[in-house]
Amino acid sequence: MLSTAVVANFLSIAAVQPAPTHRVVLDHARIVDGSGAAAIEDGRIVIERDRIARVGRFGEINAPADAETVDLAGRTVIPGLIDLHFHIENDPKLALRQLSHGVTAFRDPGQWDEKFVELRRMIAADHMPGPRIFTTGPHIDGENPAYPADSVVARDAEEARRHAEALVQRGASALKIYFRLPFASAKAVIGVCEAHRIPCTAHLELLDARELIAAGLHGIEHVTSFGISLVPPIEAEAYRQAVLKNNDARRDGRYALFSRANLDGPEAQVLYAILRERKPFLDPTLAVFERHSDIKKSNGAPDLAAGFVKMKQFTRRAALAGARVVVGGHSVVPFAERGQAPWRELELLVESGFSPMEAISAATSTAAAFLYRSDQLGSLRAGFNADLVVVRGQPDRDVTAIRTVERVMVAGQWIDTAKYRAY
Ligand SMILES: [Zn+2]
Repeated sequence: MLSTAVVANFLSIAAVQPAPTHRVVLDHARIVDGSGAAAIEDGRIVIERDRIARVGRFGEINAPADAETVDLAGRTVIPGLIDLHFHIENDPKLALRQLSHGVTAFRDPGQWDEKFVELRRMIAADHMPGPRIFTTGPHIDGENPAYPADSVVARDAEEARRHAEALVQRGASALKIYFRLPFASAKAVIGVCEAHRIPCTAHLELLDARELIAAGLHGIEHVTSFGISLVPPIEAEAYRQAVLKNNDARRDGRYALFSRANLDGPEAQVLYAILRERKPFLDPTLAVFERHSDIKKSNGAPDLAAGFVKMKQFTRRAALAGARVVVGGHSVVPFAERGQAPWRELELLVESGFSPMEAISAATSTAAAFLYRSDQLGSLRAGFNADLVVVRGQPDRDVTAIRTVERVMVAGQWIDTAKYRAY
C-alpha cells in the first residue's frame, strides 16, 4: 500500500512541473468555419491544448514558435461532423469508423447507457478524447412499443414525466418521444426537457407534428414523422389505425403516404406556418429511407422511389419554411458503405436542394445548436473545441468531396484514422 508521504511527495512534484502546452498550427488551408460564411482561401488556425486559439487569414495570425506546424495547402478544413442520429446497437466499432470519416461527435437518439460501456472503454484504452457521445436514454414510448428493447413504456402522463425525470438524472442530454406515446404524455416529457434546459426530440409518425411543435417540441427525427401532417385527416387516421394495429404497417405505408402528400395543400400550409413560428430542428435521416426505382416492386406495393422523392422535396420545403435541418446518418443505410451514412446524408441534402455550404452547416453549427452546445462545438472559432476535419477537395463547392477526409482532430488531438478505417 502506498504511504501517505509518498502520495504527498508525488503530488508536489506533479504540481511544480509546468503542464506541457500542446500547440498545433494549420497553415495555408481553405477554412470553412461551419457558420455558412464563405471560405477563407489561405488561412491559419492555431490550436492550444484542446481549443482553437485563433482563426483567420494566413498573414494576419501570429503562430507560436514551439508549435507543430502542418502545411495544408490545397486542403479544406471544416468543423468536425456531428451525427445526430447514430444507433450504436451492438457495434461500438462503427462509432470509431465514423470518427475516421470525420464524425467527431454523435447523439444516439434512444438507447440504454449500458450499450455505451464498451465504446467508452475502447476510447479510454486508446487514450482518445472522442468521439463526443451524447445520449438520450431509451425512447419514451407508449404500450406495445415499436422497439421494446430500446424503450421505456409510459402508460399515462405521470409515468411519462417520471421516466423523463429519471433519464435526465441518469445523464441524458436530450429525451426522445416515440410514436405510441399519447399526446398528454408527450407534453409531460416536453415539460421535463424545458425544466432541465435540454432538447426534446421525437419520432412522431402517429402523433401530429403540428400539435407537438405547437406544444413546444424542439426537434423531430425522420422526415417520415411528418407524413400524417401532409394528407387529409381521413387518410391520416387510416394510417394511424393501421400502424396502431401493427407497427410494421409503417414500412411501406409511409412511402404511400408521402407519394400522395400534397406539399402545397391546406394541411401542409398549416404545418409550414408552425415551422415558421417555432423553427424546430429537423433531422430528416433521408439516407435510411433512400429507395431507387430499380428496386423491384411486388404487385400492388407502393412506389417507394416516388415516396422518397417527395420526402426530399418536403425536407427542402420545411427548411424554407423555417425548420433548422441537421444531419443524422442512422448508422446503417441502403446506399452507403459501412461508416459512410453521414456522408450520404450530406449528399442527399444537396440532392434535395440545399447548397453544399448549407449541408455542411447542417452537420456542424446547426447540429451543435440542436445539442444546445452552440458556444463550444460545430464552428471553427476562437475558444471552441478543436474538433476538425481536413479534406483534400472543396466540399463547400462539391459536397462529394466530403469523401476525401485526410485527417481528423478531436479536442486538439489527431486521430489515427488508418486504424479506425479498418473497424
Ligand atoms: Zn433511428
